Amino acid sequence: MRYISTRGSAPELGFEDVLLSGLASDGGLYLPRQWPRFGEREIAGFAGKPFAMIAADIVARFTAGEVDRAVIATACREAFATFRHPAVCPLVQMTPDAFLLELFHGPTLAFKDVAMQLLARLMDHALEKRDGRVTIVGATSGDTGGAAIEAFRGRARADVFILYPEGRVSEVQRRQMTTAGEANVHALAIAGNFDDCQAMVKAMFAHEAFRQRVQLAAVNSINWARILAQIVYFVAAAAALGAPSRRLSFVVPTGNFGDIFAGYVAHRMGLPIAQLVIATNRNDILARTVASGNYTVTGVQPTTSPSMDIEVSSNFERLLFEAEGRDPAIIRNAFAALKQQGSFALSPQALTSIRALFAAGHASEAEVADEIRTVHAASGYVLDPHTAVGAVVLRKCAEADAIKILLATAHPAKFPDAVEAACGVRPPLPLALAAQRTAPERLTVLPNDQAIVERYVLDHCRIAGGIAA
Ligand SMILES: *Cc1c(COP(=O)(O)O)cnc(C)c1O
Repeated sequence: MRYISTRGSAPELGFEDVLLSGLASDGGLYLPRQWPRFGEREIAGFAGKPFAMIAADIVARFTAGEVDRAVIATACREAFATFRHPAVCPLVQMTPDAFLLELFHGPTLAFKDVAMQLLARLMDHALEKRDGRVTIVGATSGDTGGAAIEAFRGRARADVFILYPEGRVSEVQRRQMTTAGEANVHALAIAGNFDDCQAMVKAMFAHEAFRQRVQLAAVNSINWARILAQIVYFVAAAAALGAPSRRLSFVVPTGNFGDIFAGYVAHRMGLPIAQLVIATNRNDILARTVASGNYTVTGVQPTTSPSMDIEVSSNFERLLFEAEGRDPAIIRNAFAALKQQGSFALSPQALTSIRALFAAGHASEAEVADEIRTVHAASGYVLDPHTAVGAVVLRKCAEADAIKILLATAHPAKFPDAVEAACGVRPPLPLALAAQRTAPERLTVLPNDQAIVERYVLDHCRIAGGIAA
């Protein structure tokens, strides 16, 4: 299994090189050269299997013998043993034809843990094998940072620097990033928004000397291994509810398009999916793109679902590459136009192929609060604001005659202020996480300035320090 870049000029790589680098050297994102395919029997056979076993089976299809089967199995077992629920990602029935897929039982209460816990273990193994080290620099709108710090804290071969938009993450999110005491993790509060943080990380990857010097690695969803791990719960949930013989749709609260792209991959691998529904908050660039065929930035508004306050949706590039017939010239032109004019147009064929599988809609802030309140009043279940965005869009856009699976991307205790304002209930943190509320915080405030942030990373990462000495 070889991986190619969406921009067409980076070298083809194997799985471990893709895992350790993240972004391709031409600025593109890696994708497998071909999609492995499930047989119908294989899909049905996943029903009732332990989550870690399904994960090991799927991961092995993308590593092409580069990683021992036993190593993959151990990494999966250990990664999902950190979850507080025996099913790892349980399904909860909401209505006769709609289920929630709870992805928030990991250590930092959001779906990012599913992939990050596995990624850290696969990276550790690859680094040990080649006696290497990496410096991870990541941007977060709130949840990736905590998940990355939790997964990599104390690991001997990786230093982690997380850039987050100062003042734009919830207190629980901030504390998850700032209370890890280990010397290899660094929370950097940047004076800017998420897109600024993400643009800086991308620019660091483009800065070749810096990239080489610190052995820069990415754990954002630009890293293929993140997407790979997320395929697992689409397949596991669909099999549990009767795939391939039942019509199933997924509704996915979306920002950077990583989670929902994993659903697309599951579909390409042969999992029958009636509809993939893109659910956005009022930052609805993806819904507007599906409606109009033009991807046009207009500015990000803060919302109660901050992990979706995104306009430069990285993984949409992967879908575009697929929809445009894997032509890297079209991708290069599109992103050049986005940079210069803040907009690009999809070809009519690409738009038609996207609309054949995807639907899209958005939820206003008032609709989100209303949804949290009415669902709580009707059933006692407390939705987090991201999941509530999905619940609103499910009603507006999902086809009636399929079973709907709504991805519950965060635990409501992660966003207690918004939840309390909506329904009057302040959801308590799970007991295992209560210590974070009082632990001392450690963070560094930095300006939105690439040179200053690079200097900070150089001064504090163990690799560059070693070179300078
Ligand atoms: C990251 C995140 C999202 C958006 O996921 P993408 O993969 O970026 O589309 C949605 N909800 C929550 C709670 C998140 O943390």
